Amino acid sequence: MAKKYSKEKLKRFRISIEKRMEKVAEDMGDIHEGILDNGNNSEGSSQEAVFSTHMADAGTDSFEQEKNYILMGRESDYYKNLEVALDRIDEGIFGICKICAELIPEERLLEVPNATKCVGCKEKEKLGLV
Ligand SMILES: [Zn+2]
Repeated sequence: MAKKYSKEKLKRFRISIEKRMEKVAEDMGDIHEGILDNGNNSEGSSQEAVFSTHMADAGTDSFEQEKNYILMGRESDYYKNLEVALDRIDEGIFGICKICAELIPEERLLEVPNATKCVGCKEKEKLGLV
């Protein structure tokens, strides 16, 4: 019989993924504001929330702007990954390793919700063994 996570577990995964999507959407809103704000030199609270770097001294406007775009790209990639994870829940294949069909451990899924391979298979793949 094919292994898969119970409905109850999947529901919990879904909730955790949806929460993250909300958070990412918020962050993207903040970054977007940062992009719009850029140019007036006031330190908006949204920027403070997003950037806790120690590079403030090096920051020029264009540097900040570039950083915002990079962050934005990263967040939106992450958002897409979470969407893919939700799709996998809908399809009933969430948490199942594509290669060995074993269950991917919960901790890994919570960390990387769009994981499609278990750590073992991922390692093997890296080494070109799969
Ligand atoms: Zn595997």
